[in-house]
Amino acid sequence: MRGIVVVGAGQAGASLGAKLRALGYDGALTLIGDEPVPPYQRPPLSKKYLLGEMEVERLYLRPLSFYTEQDIELRTGVAVQLVDRAAKILTLSDETTLAYAQLALTTGSRPRLLPEAIGGSLGGVYAVRTLADVDAMAMEFRAGRRLLIVGGGYIGLEAAAVARLRGMHVTVIEMADRILQRVAAAETSAYFRALHASHGVDFRESTGLARLEGTQRVERAILADGSVLEVDCVVAGVGITPDTRLAEAAGLAIENGIRVDELGRTNDPDIFAAGDCSSFPYRGGRVRLESVPNAIDMGEAVAGAMLGGTEPYTARPWFWSDQYEVKLQIAGLNTGYDRVVVRPGIKEGTQSVWYFLGPELLAVDAMNDPRAYMTGKRWIEAGVSPVAKAIADPASDLKTLA
Ligand code: FAD
Repeated sequence: MRGIVVVGAGQAGASLGAKLRALGYDGALTLIGDEPVPPYQRPPLSKKYLLGEMEVERLYLRPLSFYTEQDIELRTGVAVQLVDRAAKILTLSDETTLAYAQLALTTGSRPRLLPEAIGGSLGGVYAVRTLADVDAMAMEFRAGRRLLIVGGGYIGLEAAAVARLRGMHVTVIEMADRILQRVAAAETSAYFRALHASHGVDFRESTGLARLEGTQRVERAILADGSVLEVDCVVAGVGITPDTRLAEAAGLAIENGIRVDELGRTNDPDIFAAGDCSSFPYRGGRVRLESVPNAIDMGEAVAGAMLGGTEPYTARPWFWSDQYEVKLQIAGLNTGYDRVVVRPGIKEGTQSVWYFLGPELLAVDAMNDPRAYMTGKRWIEAGVSPVAKAIADPASDLKTLA
């Protein structure tokens, strides 16, 4: 019997499958993932798990018994290679085929890799996406070793924090003129630069990587400014791209990810997409989000739509990052901001950065300041904006501002 097939057993795929059952879908349901493990959460990979403070079983989103109980056929370690949309049949890497009535693509993202031509395939050079990546990398994270991190985004900085806690020598290079430039205001960059510097991380901003050298393993890095760093290992945190390979080959519309409508439907009425791999309508434009909350919420919303629901998916963007003793929480999307206001927190080292476009509050970055985060999130979701000047006054009471 043809049923629903979900391709990509990550956060979005697992949420979508579980929600289909919770909503009463009792037809055939197959969840296919090319990684050899059950669906797991990625955020701890660059945090507690890399630090050695979390068992692998705790990464798994649900015990294996869940999939049996829910009659979800979980097939791991096998990739879907082809979607034949006319026949509605998938070809898998184990040379089997599988027919579907409806298909959900939750194929996630792939990390950008350092090119082979500049030494990206030398031993000791790692990307940070999968459990396998991090298991391999973790063996290198030993006191006294010299780590180069290429790219000062959140994942690179989280890996830098773990490496320092492990007693490694850490250098972060960033091609842009400041770390976190793509995702945050200069004020947030400055906060995290100071935090890492106080833990002994060496930063080289406005500096790209020219090449990595070594015989089999990486031994040194030549930077764009000509400087030479002796290194034992390298972590590349240079961004990700949505994994649209299967969708593209199937002729589905792509626009910064698999293009879907507000119900998560692609240009094929029987094929949906959710999570990192998809872009969807948002506030008059189109957006693609790379976060766990979006993967869960969109996966669940798309499950409803696949069963005939008509409730459009409304994203409520939020994100977090843990570095040393600091928890960063972000509410909203800061795209297009024209003004930033910094609000010092009550305790030392706490702070929030508020993004405005004209009078409209777009987003807030809260560093060890859960009250600022929760208040900002509530305001943004309700479309309420406080007066920027009042936010900057640490004596003002957030509760009364909006
Ligand atoms: P994924 O979780 O990537 O799952 C997609 C799955 O599909 C993968 O297993 C992939 O291998 C599989 N797949 C792809 N193609 C096929 C195919 N053809 N056949 C079969 N299987 C296929 N987000 C936060 O909100 N907060 C954080 O602190 C945070 N930290 C992170 C730290 C790290 C190290 C990483 C890597 C990510 C982090 N993220 C964080 C991002 C978050 O994990 C992702 O946004 C989320 O996992 C997206 O879920 P997804 O299901 O769309 O994709």
